[in-house]
Amino acid sequence: MKTGKVAVMSGPNRPFEVREYPLLPVPEGMARMKLLASGVCGTDLHIMRGKLAVGFPACIGHEFIGKVEDIHEADSAKYGINVGDNVIVDIAVPCGECILCKEGNDANCVNMGVTNGGRPEVAPHFYGGFSDYNYTSVKNLVKLPEELDPLMVGVFACPGPTAIHAVRLGIKAGLDPAGVNVAVVQGAGPVGCFATAYLAALGIKEILVICGGANDRRSLLAKQLGATELLDFTAQSMDDIVKYVQSKNGGLGADLVFEASGNPKAVPQGMDMLRNRGMYLVPGQYSQSGGIEIQPQMITFKALSIIGSSQYSMVDVHEYVKFLSEHTELHNPIKGLASCYKVEDINKAFEDAGAGKNIKTVIVPE
Ligand SMILES: [Zn+2]
Ligand SMILES: [Zn+2]
Repeated sequence: MKTGKVAVMSGPNRPFEVREYPLLPVPEGMARMKLLASGVCGTDLHIMRGKLAVGFPACIGHEFIGKVEDIHEADSAKYGINVGDNVIVDIAVPCGECILCKEGNDANCVNMGVTNGGRPEVAPHFYGGFSDYNYTSVKNLVKLPEELDPLMVGVFACPGPTAIHAVRLGIKAGLDPAGVNVAVVQGAGPVGCFATAYLAALGIKEILVICGGANDRRSLLAKQLGATELLDFTAQSMDDIVKYVQSKNGGLGADLVFEASGNPKAVPQGMDMLRNRGMYLVPGQYSQSGGIEIQPQMITFKALSIIGSSQYSMVDVHEYVKFLSEHTELHNPIKGLASCYKVEDINKAFEDAGAGKNIKTVIVPE
């Protein structure tokens, strides 16, 4: 019987163990995919460092892109996904029953499940991102157009939908991209870089990106993706950067600030940069990184809108794929960010990702 490798994590700060399991027939409702590209996300590093709890042993990784190898006919007919299709797995399994799901906020379902929660020793064994194969519910698959390179799609597989969802919630709360003269993106990591590209595509003319080093690869990428100016906090003080942003927009400050740095200190700075009635999108604070003093009167006096956003929905993954299809000019710069490793080299991949050597670490087939 054919087999495949799974990188199994037995606990935080322990090396992965690469196991081999047989490829079983696909259960009804699921598809079996062969690995094409599977990114290592910041969340995976948090799990490795013990900052986010999951059940062990586990095959983590939630950015799996694969080619469908096996699927039941009825599921093909129902979801329009066939053997040979390239697909991206959406990790989120909302319950569909709670108030959040029913009101259309399934990204924040209170009973949220995940596709990679299965134990590797339990058949069909392949649930997570860091393995040669993956079995996932067909309803969690989004088909990729054939012309999209799976490795390129893999670079922003999770940061892309994350940024898109934050903007979606902003628009739901009254954000009108056409009315934004000046936007600020805090942080030039994967979420910040994708947010820059997305805001530029929405027609926002002036996008200032706050970064640590104007010549590092991420900052240069932000520029390629649509940043009009890089504000480097290693070259000038944050106070000066805040004052500079406040001088923009006829002295009003930014219309929109997008937090993608993950640094708690960025939050009061973001509030400071906004104009009256400005909007602050905050998807970036995705770990417990400590508290920070804020001036709550600013929320009142400036009448700010502060919009949090975590997770994303199928609709955001579809939007991500559509965005990439429409912006072919971005494909080469995006693809160039991937550093590739095989499943059996998972420990080296995590070592390099943890040391900040790569912009995007991606697991690829042998
Ligand atoms: Zn992720
Ligand atoms: Zn729910």
